[in-house]
Amino acid sequence: MIIVLRSGATQEEVDEVVERLKRLGFGAHVSRGVERTIIGAIGDERGVNLEEKIGVLPFVEKVIPVLAPYRLASREYQKTDTVVKVGNVEIGGGKLVFVAGPCSVESEEQVVETAVRVKEAGAKILRGGAFKPRTSPYSFQGLAEEGLKFLAKAREITGLPVVTEVLGVEELPLVARYADMIQIGARNMQNFRLLEAVGKLRKPVLLKRGMMSTVEELLMSAEYILVQGNYQVVLCERGIRTFEPSTRNTLDLSCIPLVKMQSHLPILADPSHGTGRSDLVEAMSLAALAAGADGLIIEVHPNPIEALSDGPQSLTPEQFNHLMKEIKKLAATMGKEV
Ligand code: PEP
Ligand code: MN
Repeated sequence: MIIVLRSGATQEEVDEVVERLKRLGFGAHVSRGVERTIIGAIGDERGVNLEEKIGVLPFVEKVIPVLAPYRLASREYQKTDTVVKVGNVEIGGGKLVFVAGPCSVESEEQVVETAVRVKEAGAKILRGGAFKPRTSPYSFQGLAEEGLKFLAKAREITGLPVVTEVLGVEELPLVARYADMIQIGARNMQNFRLLEAVGKLRKPVLLKRGMMSTVEELLMSAEYILVQGNYQVVLCERGIRTFEPSTRNTLDLSCIPLVKMQSHLPILADPSHGTGRSDLVEAMSLAALAAGADGLIIEVHPNPIEALSDGPQSLTPEQFNHLMKEIKKLAATMGKEV
């Protein structure tokens, strides 16, 4: 942490900062310039909020952190990419991974048909929500355990591992019994009790970025899971809220290479929620892969017009098949395997 004092700071003021730092367990390196005095706080700044403890002093102009506030999620902590295994599928191992399926599980036929079709097209993991986080309490809320059973049936038929969302700590044991990977949705990215609970599981977690969360907050949420001993975390960029109303969210593509620089965790992109429009999904899928995403999660429905949730952003199986063909061409030019 670097502490910049206001111009004209006196020796007593410098001494006070040094003294406070000592009391907090930090060493201090004082550097007196012509106009400004700068003090380097020596020690691990992550456990102590120096911005609060030192930044409040009237003669301190600013406190600049040097280390990222997350530790286990950072590239400094682990140089090599984490590879997360979901069933036999590896995410982050260099091969691009595609997760596809309906927004909501609606019936056995719907999810089995979708699973068979997306598998044929090249998907490696099946997605589908049985517990749905809907804005309106009057909207379809999901089939709950029945939906989990349909997902398990689709897995049995296709062999695809299943990722599904958990909404609350209370239903985690139930969801974990059926799921190969647990999804923490955007609305729950900062549900810290839930993050701790999935951190105690030994199952892979798909952590979606909150719609109003910064990259740092996303990585801090991942840290909550890692610190409990669960290192199988995959991040997901699913779009953030901006002023632009033409799309449901703004898919933040720049966060993908940024996360890759700052963290060793794999990251998927979700162009379905990222745009809210099926006609934009293909372009944004290709763009996200070009930006370095480890794969994609895409909503596919056999009949999007009849979907009980997120129909406008869902691809038909035919459209998904077309997308996968385009992805294969792109992957070849990028020297990546699909
Ligand atoms: C979903 O994947 O269907 C979903 C609700 O996603 P998000 O949490 O990103 O909105
Ligand atoms: Mn959805």
